[in-house]
Amino acid sequence: MVDILKNYIGGEWVSGVGKPTISVKNPATGKTISKVPAGKKEDIDNAVKVAEAAFGKWRNTPAIKRIKYLFKMKQLLEEHADEIATICTNESGKTFAESKAEIVRAVENVEVACGIPSLLQSEFSEDVATGVDEFMIRQPLGIGACIAPFNFPIMIPFWFMPYAIACGNTYIIKPSEKVPGTMSRIFEIIEGVGLPKGVLNMVHGGKETVDALLDHQKVSAISFVGSTAVAKYVYERGTANGKRVQAQGGAKNPIVVMSDADIDSAVKIIVDSAFGCAGQRCLAASLVITIGDAREKIVKKLVEAAKSKTVGYGYSDVTDMGPVITLESQKRIESLIETGIRDGAKALLDGRNISIKGFEEGYFVHPTILDNVERDSELHRTEVFGPVLSLMHVASLDEAIEIVNDSEYGNSACIFTSSGAAARKFRHDALAGNIGINIGVAAPMAFFPFSGWKKSFFGDLHGQSRHAVEFYTQTKVVIERWHNEWTRKF
Ligand code: NAD
Repeated sequence: MVDILKNYIGGEWVSGVGKPTISVKNPATGKTISKVPAGKKEDIDNAVKVAEAAFGKWRNTPAIKRIKYLFKMKQLLEEHADEIATICTNESGKTFAESKAEIVRAVENVEVACGIPSLLQSEFSEDVATGVDEFMIRQPLGIGACIAPFNFPIMIPFWFMPYAIACGNTYIIKPSEKVPGTMSRIFEIIEGVGLPKGVLNMVHGGKETVDALLDHQKVSAISFVGSTAVAKYVYERGTANGKRVQAQGGAKNPIVVMSDADIDSAVKIIVDSAFGCAGQRCLAASLVITIGDAREKIVKKLVEAAKSKTVGYGYSDVTDMGPVITLESQKRIESLIETGIRDGAKALLDGRNISIKGFEEGYFVHPTILDNVERDSELHRTEVFGPVLSLMHVASLDEAIEIVNDSEYGNSACIFTSSGAAARKFRHDALAGNIGINIGVAAPMAFFPFSGWKKSFFGDLHGQSRHAVEFYTQTKVVIERWHNEWTRKF
């Protein structure tokens, strides 16, 4: 018997309404480790009720007092980092080191949100007319929610939640049903923060839960992260219902390598980007475009470095790369590799059909490198979201940028070069929201926005930093005159 995870609503652990559950599996073993409620509209109704009841008092709590809870949250997350990372590794398959790195990124967002008293400060103009002043204040929206994907079970809700509650909103997190135990454990831990009941809630579930959030008239803002098709759906349905929505979607991240790059360091960084987290990062390199003789310098080395990755159970010290998330993902990735080869690509490294001793039921795909991938091939156009790196070769930087810009995605684009001029041209011309120069995973720090473009993002304001503060507040402009003996003199 495995546990059925509970929702956290109004400071209480409660069972989901309705019987259906979804099995949560350890991707390294294929074994069911827990079950999660499939989710009903009534679960969201219940969470919204308590969030609404808590809002009035919470928004009137001074910002300086609200952040005291966040300082405590940071402390608890750090104290329990190993425990959280263990659950994350068992549910998501990523290595223990990768899970620990997520906590660091989550905590950075809590730290930035602790600056909310300054971040909420606004503009004031004196004497816009004689004796008249004008200023702007930021006020919370009400109830916000985060709908999270599977690939960063710890970090992603923290791109939004700390800012939302620091700004005075109350909040609901809907974790991915593939990795729900990690956020459940985080909630058990951060219960120790002592937030007033109803300020922070968690509701498990799948599509019905998401739809209930998108349709609920009392939910004001939605932060979504996931695949492009669902991001677009969430954006359209949420905004049609009058909500603010920021929806981060899928990606296909190119890396351009110039002949003057430091090849050995580029190889290490690119291989870590392509195969770290089993290629399931939204900023993972999925395409390397070499320019000129960079091809001769780098291709063999990339293959050797990828081959040297140890694939296995994420909790083992020797593992560099864990499994992909589900059996369906494994099959989908393998079939995309097949499609790429069918369309003319050459497999320099083929990670299909490989079994790991002791983990024969796990969903493993080894690092795969496909050379000469065609620009119009299905493989090139599709987000693989697995450990598959495509290679293309061109003669000039202009051609490389044209390939980068032809993508329907725009999450990130990177270049490896020792030329400042080439790097500048690239950062200026590349149509992507996060640019890396001699960087393989262009992940913005918490004090910058996570700036996806094109079909990698639907909305205006991004997650993290000031963008999150603006997203979770509405501006109010006040024009003020006080009649008195002094103003009457003018
Ligand atoms: P997903 O779109 O399948 O699921 C994301 C969330 O949406 C989950 O909580 C899920 O329950 C819900 N959902 C799924 N299908 C739904 C539907 N039909 N209607 C309503 N809700 C639905 O994504 P995933 O597989 O969990 O995550 C991987 C994807 O997320 C990849 O495409 C990856 O690129 C993307 N991602 C993007 C970023 C970014 O910053 N742009 C970051 C991380 C992940």
